Amino acid sequence: MRYTNNSLLGLGLISGGLDSLIATLMLKLQDIEIVGLNFKSPFCNCDKALKNSECGLNLYYEKLGITTYYQYKKEDYLKIIRSPIFGYGRNLNPCIDCRIYILKKAKKFAEKIKADFIFTGEVLNQRPKSQNKRALKIIEREAGLKGKLLRPLSALLLEPTILEKQGYIDRSKLFGINGRSRKIQLEIAQKYGLLNSYYACGGCLLTDKGFSNRMKDCIKYHENLNMKDVNILKYGRHFRYNQSKIIVGRNELENKLLLQLKYTNDLIMQAENVTGPITIIQGKRDNEVMKFAAELTLRYSDNNDINGRIVYGTKIHALKNFIDVDKIKKEKIEQHIL
Ligand code: SF4
Repeated sequence: MRYTNNSLLGLGLISGGLDSLIATLMLKLQDIEIVGLNFKSPFCNCDKALKNSECGLNLYYEKLGITTYYQYKKEDYLKIIRSPIFGYGRNLNPCIDCRIYILKKAKKFAEKIKADFIFTGEVLNQRPKSQNKRALKIIEREAGLKGKLLRPLSALLLEPTILEKQGYIDRSKLFGINGRSRKIQLEIAQKYGLLNSYYACGGCLLTDKGFSNRMKDCIKYHENLNMKDVNILKYGRHFRYNQSKIIVGRNELENKLLLQLKYTNDLIMQAENVTGPITIIQGKRDNEVMKFAAELTLRYSDNNDINGRIVYGTKIHALKNFIDVDKIKKEKIEQHIL
């Protein structure tokens, strides 16, 4: 550690949102050198190809002149989602365990770059379960960062960190923000010309009810879950039928993505001679599964007749087999949709 005035190096957990932006600004205003660390995962809705939206990382951080490094949440993160020690939030979001996970990784990274401390944009009581005082303490302790984790936005409401106590970080220039409102953060951002308005980016898919249902189903059916299994959950309509998984694309882009994300042996279906979805079948393909998948493919295609032909195979350019089916009833669809 290099504790000399004005030569501190802080590692910030940068989400791309308003809070971490202002936390970074607070420290930059004290002439502290900052390096950012951003974690990417399939659960970050900001990366969703369909929305083509960008997190504010580039936009915001170019203005503060800090370098941001990236790390990916890997398969070890999926184990946390399967069985978090500190439980879930409203949906399948294991927020306390998630924070501990990324802070442990950040701690290692901080050691590598010889950062003197780590900070986050966490705000006391912004989220009732994972950002109350007790949760913040647990996160700090379990990540092995007792006294070394600074939350500049709520620092005045929390115990001082070691560097604050030693006077290397000026506590009087930190904030005591409490609660969900982002009014103060936005005012600061406007005052320093960082941004004029703020639109929260998509956030975490694990907090989304629909995605969490798909994820729960995925956990149930995959003992050794991997990121490929998770990635495909973001696209198409998903159905569970007789233990098999059927995924039906909702538009051209999803069709393309499903073909990219499928396993080699997954079966592909498509309506013959009309525009429509790509359907992927994972798992066993008995007659009932094949019929149901074909009915769905017909239902979501541009075929206006009461029946039609569906072609299938494992390679998109060689769908040589076919099955003729009638249009499916809405009630049957609803029984199996995830
Ligand atoms: S919302 Fe998602 S990314 Fe954020 S702490 Fe919770 S689980 Fe982690």
